Amino acid sequence: MDDIVIVGAGECGTRAAFALRETGYTGAITLVGAESHLPYERPPLSKPMDGAVQMKAICGSDTIASAAIDYLQGAAATSLDPSLRTVSLNDGRTLRYQKLLLATGARPRRLTCVGAEHALDFRTCGDASEIFFRAASAKSVAIIGGGLIGMELAAVLRAKGVNVTIIEAAAKPLGRAVPTRFAQSLHARHIAEGVEFRLGVGVAEITPSAVLLADGTEVPADVVVSAIGVTADCALAEAAGLATGNGIHTDTFLRTSDHDIFAAGDCAAVAQPGGGHIRFESWRNARTQGETAARNMLGEARPFDAIPWFWSDQYDLSLQVVGLPRPEHQAIVRGLPDGELEFYLDGGRLVAAAGLGRGNSLAKDIKLAEMLVAAELVPDPEALADPGVNLKAVLKSARAEAAA
Ligand code: FAD
Ligand code: NAP
Repeated sequence: MDDIVIVGAGECGTRAAFALRETGYTGAITLVGAESHLPYERPPLSKPMDGAVQMKAICGSDTIASAAIDYLQGAAATSLDPSLRTVSLNDGRTLRYQKLLLATGARPRRLTCVGAEHALDFRTCGDASEIFFRAASAKSVAIIGGGLIGMELAAVLRAKGVNVTIIEAAAKPLGRAVPTRFAQSLHARHIAEGVEFRLGVGVAEITPSAVLLADGTEVPADVVVSAIGVTADCALAEAAGLATGNGIHTDTFLRTSDHDIFAAGDCAAVAQPGGGHIRFESWRNARTQGETAARNMLGEARPFDAIPWFWSDQYDLSLQVVGLPRPEHQAIVRGLPDGELEFYLDGGRLVAAAGLGRGNSLAKDIKLAEMLVAAELVPDPEALADPGVNLKAVLKSARAEAAA
């Protein structure tokens, strides 16, 4: 094989291009990226250092050149013809492929209320620059959506002394992916830092100077940011007749309904062993799916079975979540000097873990928790809860018990 095209030069597509070379592939790689920058990481955008947005490139142009990756910077794929195995670009070019990876990511969900055009999105480097530039001279910023982006942005703006109000449709913030215990702790920390919350209320209208809420009240704001989640970018796949739903449908090997087309990262909804498709929206997932798709495009048959993991930094606190904790799981808390861990058991089996602590203080424990989850063990709940029992010892004894 000598022609692989990757559409989307985010974390996933870029990682896949390099993984192809690392695996020994010597044919042509074309990486098509609609953005006008070198590939860059999104997480640092909402965690500025020393008050400035970080534009952290994934790789330099020299690294791309030395890996012989043909990076089409600022070029968008406009259509895809699976029967001819071609991709058309907005500059009139047509690319032929033998294998194609769709790594088109996700787009911010848009508000539909009157004045929605006054709200800024937060997805790209350009979005981040505009938000922080405008916030620098703002008295107050309203953030619509109390999810991961909304809460991270609020923390950064409070550190700069900006008045922040978070407007969230649900009764509490971070209700989607963050376990309740830690969502509550982070909510309390934001209140202590002076963030105002308007919870359980919809947005009726946005004006240049305020957000009008459905209950008739008003939140004054010079800058309004919309952070109400994302939708998978399935446009090319849908128009080409590939199977889609909440994302581009793939099997466990990240292959779409077309044999020669794969999908990975935020845009991919991957078949689950128990049925249904799941889409993950996190940095590590984008990387690992990109690597798996690269190998499978070259003929391997590796199921994608990595354990989900994400982190979020707010103030001096770092949250990490391993696996998919659910409210119905048995939760076991382990107190630590600089934070807390929580383990989630399903029928006695450890299926997920999460931790919230100062800075990097929980890194080692979370790594061990991830190993425990990966081992699919049935650990002793009392040992999990006891900070005096080393997690390495818990792993060892659960392994010994499983082997007996
Ligand atoms: P994307 O990053 O969306 O990249 C897709 C790329 O494809 C885009 O550049 C897009 O322009 C391009 N594209 C789309 N269609 C076309 C086309 N037709 N032709 C050419 N190019 C196209 N995750 C974490 O785990 N932890 C964090 O702390 C964290 N922080 C975040 C902070 C912010 C502000 C944001 C926005 C996200 C954060 N995330 C975080 C999520 C993480 O960044 C994403 O899950 C990850 O970037 C997804 O990578 P991707 O390559 O699949 O998609
Ligand atoms: P998100 O985490 O999905 O949160 C969006 C929040 O907005 C949800 O609480 C949602 O409630 C709420 N909402 C939806 N519609 C609303 C409305 N009309 N008015 C008010 N609130 C509304 O998404 P996000 O924070 O926008 O982040 C976008 C993407 O970046 C996601 O893929 C996210 O995973 C990723 N990201 C990750 C990290 C991280 O891991 N640290 C950090 C930043 C971003 P419902 O859930 O009830 O709809």
